[in-house]
Amino acid sequence: MNIELQCCALFIVFTIFVMFMREKKLDLMNRKLFFHALCACFGCLIFDILSVILINLAVHQGFSPIITSIVCKLYIMLLTLQGFCGYVYASTSLLPVDKTWAKVVKTLSYVIFIAGEILMFVLPIGYEAYDRVVYSYGPSTSVAYVLSAVYIISTILTTIAYRKQMPGRRLVAMLLWQGIWLLAAAIQFVAPQLLLMGFASAFGMVILYIQLENPSEYIDASTGLFTINALSAYVHDRYKFGKRFAMFTAKIHFISNGVDYNIEQDAIIRTARALVALGPEPAFRIDDDTFCVLYDDKERMYERASNIKMQKDGVNDIPAKGTYLLVPDSLLMNGPDEFFRFLHTYLESDAEIVEADKELVEKLREQNRVKELIDEALSEDRVEVFYQPFYNVRESCFDVAEALVRIRQKNGELVPPGVFIPVAEKSGQIIPLGIRVFEKVCEFLSKGEAIKYGLRQVEVNISAAQFDYENPARFVLEYLDEYGVEPGCINLEITETAAARNKDFMLRSMNKLIEEGISFSLDDFGTGRSNIDYFVNMPIKIIKFDHSFTKGFFNNVKIKHVMTGMIDIFHKMNMEIVVEGIEIEDQVGVMKDMGVEFIQGFYYSKPIPENELLAFLRDRNNIVS
Ligand code: C2E
Ligand code: MG
Ligand code: MG
Repeated sequence: MNIELQCCALFIVFTIFVMFMREKKLDLMNRKLFFHALCACFGCLIFDILSVILINLAVHQGFSPIITSIVCKLYIMLLTLQGFCGYVYASTSLLPVDKTWAKVVKTLSYVIFIAGEILMFVLPIGYEAYDRVVYSYGPSTSVAYVLSAVYIISTILTTIAYRKQMPGRRLVAMLLWQGIWLLAAAIQFVAPQLLLMGFASAFGMVILYIQLENPSEYIDASTGLFTINALSAYVHDRYKFGKRFAMFTAKIHFISNGVDYNIEQDAIIRTARALVALGPEPAFRIDDDTFCVLYDDKERMYERASNIKMQKDGVNDIPAKGTYLLVPDSLLMNGPDEFFRFLHTYLESDAEIVEADKELVEKLREQNRVKELIDEALSEDRVEVFYQPFYNVRESCFDVAEALVRIRQKNGELVPPGVFIPVAEKSGQIIPLGIRVFEKVCEFLSKGEAIKYGLRQVEVNISAAQFDYENPARFVLEYLDEYGVEPGCINLEITETAAARNKDFMLRSMNKLIEEGISFSLDDFGTGRSNIDYFVNMPIKIIKFDHSFTKGFFNNVKIKHVMTGMIDIFHKMNMEIVVEGIEIEDQVGVMKDMGVEFIQGFYYSKPIPENELLAFLRDRNNIVS
């Protein structure tokens, strides 16, 4: 009898079925729909085999024509159901859920399907069997052919229409699946003895299972938890279908870098177990050392999360501690992108417990706006450099100026660096920004006017964090060469709003620049950000006392003593001193008496654009042009 291919197909589908049932499942819409399609395929194959057997029995041995007809009808109804499930599987993740037209399309497809199934059941069917050819015919079968064709074509068209919002792999898998179906139907049409349809649909299921529903992508091999891919699919699904959720995330920090690999793995496995023990909710491993559990509501999350075994100051006996991130309501964020941005940003924070609320999400949005502001300013050349001249006490002139970056907004207003430098340091935009500032400074110096009016050196700020991304020596030397600027005209001020992670690398890079004739200052001294390491171990020539420290000098006797002592120490170490934040004349006198080399402050000048600096230098350095 002509059922070999269907039996093979049944075996394949049964294998997928067993594997699918055995794996840990996540409540994902696509997985549910895949399961429906798999069941339809399974049922269809059983009735395919049954109908071939019964048709043969009915034609050759007089078996009941009524039962045979019913089985034949059930087979073609299941075949159509399979096509319908395929269409629903393909379209549900693609069509928008909130658009009226999409709802109409969905309702219509269900109505057509149900009407078709009823028609197939009530309309007459015939069947025939000779040699190896077995087939059914009649109005009922015709409805099945038409509907199946409609579903296959709709699936292909929907897939093609939404190809841009689909990962390439999904697109290929969907088209391959539907293409195989079409090919099998065409072959079966011309050669009815080849009952290929059942086998083709089983083959399609194999493609979908391996390419799209592959469990290895969703399960982390070493912990058995769900992976970041699973989390991404789950979160997208929840946002798409408007289902809110709460999330508890834990990141393990090993207290020292050299923790033994086995101890690390042990901590990870134990954390994974602790999370699984927290309840039936799905637990994910989203990074080597970061885990999360998703809950349907925040009450459940708070209740379960309070049971977490990991303590703030150690994972039991392991030298590690945790950072906890709680998201009580996913709808605080406006979609998966913002949700993951939030996760990414706040998991890196130093706080032990971060709880998402409106304020924090708004802060994230603000940061994002600042990032966009920087990107736009860079691409539209709205990054400007202002200069603040310093007074050289020994030479009684203004021969140094600090370059201070600003962003000019489209409406002409200026954004001060305090708003965007910390964001740029975190996002890495400090690299293009720093390069742009340096190029502008070189361009300015290359014109020669500032030097003609007595300017000897420009101090350019460079964040310690810049050394984490690249070697600044490269662009510094490149631009000096390109614009023909003497290295001695540049002094780099190291600012440490974000600490450098690799001090050795930083030191090598600094030494390379010093060899070329560039000098370094330590900025922000006295703010608590400037590390003692810098002036003891780093090749620093100038110390800049931050204006908060200078202010303290005039208001607080203790700070006055500290500052006086520090000035003495730095002078003994052959370093020069710049005091910042000098705003009134009396302060100038005091600082001169203290023996500082340079005075910077609003008393002399605020940071000003190039042309104003040139006028300032010319007037105050008494240069006759
Ligand atoms: P900073 O390097 O310590 O620069 C001195 C800051 O103090 C400037 O603020 C300046 O306007 C301000 N200042 C100067 N004199 C006085 C005064 O008498 N009173 C008061 N109240 N303030 C005074 P600005 O321009 O807003 O810059 C803030 C910070 O942004 C800088 O502090 C520096 O850390 C950073 N920054 C500026 N430009 C750059 C840059 O190109 N790259 C990097 N990485 N950081 C930069
Ligand atoms: Mg500075
Ligand atoms: Mg400073």
